Amino acid sequence: MKVPSVTCGTHGKQPQTFVCRHIIESLKTGEPKGFWWSRGPDGVWDAVCNECNALDQAAFDALGPDNIGVICLGCFEDAAALNEVELE
Ligand SMILES: [Zn+2]
Ligand SMILES: [Zn+2]
Repeated sequence: MKVPSVTCGTHGKQPQTFVCRHIIESLKTGEPKGFWWSRGPDGVWDAVCNECNALDQAAFDALGPDNIGVICLGCFEDAAALNEVELE
């Protein structure tokens, strides 16, 4: 299945991934905040920080769509590397 792509200023055209806004912040600040990733059946990667990972589903959902942003797969890999997490 084809993952929709995004065009990143750094990495060019890449598959889109979903991460919490704290991970997007950590890419800007260079400060690791945890990186808990998974890959959906559609092949789309997503990840949340330590703080978001500690929430139960209802509390996480209560944060709403503003808590989640789209980044390119290159940025996703950069965020994983920042947190010293390996993607399979
Ligand atoms: Zn988070
Ligand atoms: Zn990127």
